[in-house]
Order: sequence, then C-alpha cells, then structure tokens
Amino acid sequence: MNKQIATLGKLEHWIDGNSVAASGSYLDNVNPMTGGPGISVAAGTKADVDAAVGAAKRAAEGWRRFNAAERGRLMMGLAAMMREKRDELAEMERADTGKPMPMAYAEIDGSVAYFEFYGSLVYLPTGDVLDVAPDQHVFTKREPYGIVGVITPWNLPLNQAARAIAPALVAGNVIVAKPSEITSQTTVAMARMASEVGFPSGVINVVLGTGKDVGEAIVSHPDVRKVAFTGSVGVGRAIGHIAADRIIPLTLELGGKSANIVFDDADLDTAATEAVKGFTLNAGQVCSAGTRVLVQRSVYDAFLGKLKKAVEGIVPGENLGPIITPAQFRRVQTYFKVAEEDGARCLHGGAVADGDGFYIQPTLYADVSNDMRIAQEEIFGPVGVVIPFDTEEDAIRIANDSDYGLIGTVWSQNISRALRVADRIDAGQIFVNVWNTMSVQTPFGGYKNSGYGREKGIEAIHHYSHLKTVTVKF
Ligand code: NAD
Repeated sequence: MNKQIATLGKLEHWIDGNSVAASGSYLDNVNPMTGGPGISVAAGTKADVDAAVGAAKRAAEGWRRFNAAERGRLMMGLAAMMREKRDELAEMERADTGKPMPMAYAEIDGSVAYFEFYGSLVYLPTGDVLDVAPDQHVFTKREPYGIVGVITPWNLPLNQAARAIAPALVAGNVIVAKPSEITSQTTVAMARMASEVGFPSGVINVVLGTGKDVGEAIVSHPDVRKVAFTGSVGVGRAIGHIAADRIIPLTLELGGKSANIVFDDADLDTAATEAVKGFTLNAGQVCSAGTRVLVQRSVYDAFLGKLKKAVEGIVPGENLGPIITPAQFRRVQTYFKVAEEDGARCLHGGAVADGDGFYIQPTLYADVSNDMRIAQEEIFGPVGVVIPFDTEEDAIRIANDSDYGLIGTVWSQNISRALRVADRIDAGQIFVNVWNTMSVQTPFGGYKNSGYGREKGIEAIHHYSHLKTVTVKF
C-alpha cells in the first residue's frame, strides 16, 4: 500500500500564457499516501490576482470576437492534448490526492469530455427574433460576462475546473481560476496545454494560493463579472455575501448528504454494491456521495448482511484512497466517537487503516436515526450510515430531513413508486436503480444548502452569458 509517486517540486502560477514565479512564499503540501512531503505551490497574493485579471482583461475583447469555428477547434485541440497526456495528468492527480489510478483516469476522461462537449456547441450561444410589432425588429443575443472567476476544491480537481471553464470559454468569457492549494497541479497543466494548442495568452489564467489570499481577491475584484464556485457551504456563503454586495452572478456547487433509498422490492444485491460505492468512491470525498442508506424494515437485516459483504471488498490502499490532509484525516476520525456516543452500531471499520498515509477503513454504521450528527453532517470520508424506514412516506420524510439536497437514489422494481418518490425528493439529481451515473450532458446542481445554479449540460452555457434584447423601429 501507499505507493510513493515522486512529484516533489514547486508549482507556479500560470498568467498571461506564462509560468509566473511566486512573489512571496510557497505552501507545502503533504503526500496523503505516505504522510511525507508533497509538492509546494505558490502562495499567491492580491497582486498576483491583479496581474491575472489584467491579462484576462487584455485578452477578453479578442476572445469574445474570436471566430466560433476556430474557438471550437481550440477546444477540441485542448481535449486531444489532454487525452494524449492522460497518463501524465492522472499521475499528477494521484500524486496530489492519492486516489487509485482507475479513479484518476476516470476523472481525466471526464475532464476531456467537457472540452469536447462544449467545444461541439460553439454555435449555440445565439438569440431569437421576436415578433413584437409590425414596425419593429426585435432580437435577443447572448453576450459573455467577460472575466469569470473559477474557484474549485480538492476532491476532483481537474474535473471541477474543466466543468466550469469549458462552458465559460465557449460562451466567450476569459478565465481567472484558483484551484485548491492542496491539488493545483492539473489545473495549471490544463492551462499550459491550452497555450500549447493555441489559446491566446490571457484567456485562461491560474493563480495559486489560499482562499483567503487569492479566492477572496478574485471574487472581490471589480473586473470579475461572474464566479463559479465549487466547495463547502461555509465558503460558499462567504463568497455569496461578497457577490451580493457586488451584484454579480454566482454559481454555487456545495456539499451533500444524499439518500440512497432501498425498498423491499429492489434488486438487493445490486443496491448493496452500489450503495457501498456511494459512500466509498474517492474515499467518500465526493459532494454527491450517497452517505445515508435508507432501508425498508422488512429487508433491513438481509440488506445489512449484503452491505457488510460489499464493504469488506473495499480495501484501503488498493481500491480505497487516502483522506486528503492530516486535518481532514483527524476530522473524519472525530465522527467515530460521535457515532459511538449517539449509539450507532458499527458494522465495519470505525478506525484508521494500518500503515502510513491517511487511510481510513471503509466504515458502516447501522441502526442510525436521522437526527444523529453522522446522518446530518457531511463527513467527507468513507463512512456510510444505515437508517431503517417503514413506509414510502417515511422514506421521503427522512430523505428530505437534511440541510442538503444534491442527489437522491431510489431502488425499487415498482417504477410507479420510484417515480413518485423521485418527484418528492428535494434534490437536483435523482437516480432510479442506478447510483450516480453522471454524464457531461446531465445538468448538475443542488437544492437547499447544496447550492444554486447548474453546471453541465447545454443549459450551463447560458449561465455564462447575459441575454441582451435589441429593438429597432423602422
Ligand atoms: P472549501 O470550501 O474549503 O474550498 C474550496 C475552494 O475555495 C478552495 O480553492 C479554497 O482555497 C477556496 N476558498 C477557501 N476559502 C475561501 C474564501 N474565503 N474565499 C474564496 N475562496 C476560498 O472546500 P474543500 O474543502 O476544498 O472541498 C470540499 C467541499 O467541496 C465539500 O463540502 C464538498 O461537498 C464540496 N464539493 C462540492 C461539489 C459540487 O459539485 N456540488 C463538488 C466537489 C466538492
């Protein structure tokens, strides 16, 4: 376990088509697979953000007027280069996050798909002609916001960045991105590749550093006209205040505590395997993790047996990666005590794994009630809780008794029931008899504290542009 990947070194900003050295200090990361040193990243400042915004501003008019076909070719060119460098990008992602290689590859492939999908939609941002009056010609047209700030977390670093950057570019915007300071490598690599395939300098800029120093400076900058944020509720709320003061649009993709609802007529074997995937994928560090497993009481004991068997197949260091940082590693462990105090029954795990690095055993708690902290709070570790229910009405009530509303899953062979339940769960995405098969085509976003606005799908392009109406009297 804990295979070391040598990536020690210093990572610099990418501004105006160039690597720009840190003006001050560096932030030292820890390798989550070993607990040893990881890469150091430039600790950016407001001055670096000003430089990046300046470069973006110089590039904005040219990019906005860029021929659409040519813009599409650049998007496809970047996708092709990322595909060609798939191994390199996946190694970087693994080095930063420790995730198993199949997961790293899946993430790179998903990121490539954003550039291909949105690159194929370059002609979409057009308008309509409106029949308002016989002596008026009225039309609408789409115009980019200008400079879009993209702030992303550490769990799926390249994917989250590409998810916002690709549609924003196609809508004619230029970018100032700030990846998580813990996992900055792939976002810088992507921006560098964009320059190599011919994107004009300044169209994609990446400033590294902390949220306080760099993230806030991006959101507060008077020339940044839209922000796409993916991360925690607390930071989303703080950014929301700044955006409200500045009256700029914001997309918030925040956390989740999603329900996996298993009815007694479900294919229990598939539901058990997928439910375990739901809270162990990426070591549970996924916003859409299915961390609450709601099981109908008539099959409760049988289903617990299947869950236990499935969770035993998840092995730290093999198909289960580490927790990202020492602080997060400690935080996940605090929930073991909370679970015990609340009276949950530990069926598996509930402890760290042997060896170096920040590995936690896949953990399963049964006999959980939905008011326990482990059922309400986003743990962001490989921890699932099982909650029994009696009726369809109970299941809906429990699923919705959460501050979050990102996804929900329903397992039942009764399609009428599945659709009824899907209709009443307050979440942005519902899956029936399958867990979380996301595609670039499917809009993604939350209800309640999980955020607002939508990423992905055709729809997302329109979240990166103004709609202007022009009326001509003749
Ligand atoms: P985080 O909110 O701590 O950080 C996210 C980003 O915001 C980082 O780049 C960080 O440096 C920056 N940031 C921090 N403080 C800031 C500030 N004051 N102003 C501006 N930027 C600031 O989140 P995290 O710990 O990196 O990621 C985990 C969280 O992200 C979880 O809650 C998870 O559910 C959520 N997430 C949501 C989605 C989604 O699509 N809904 C996807 C992945 C992760």
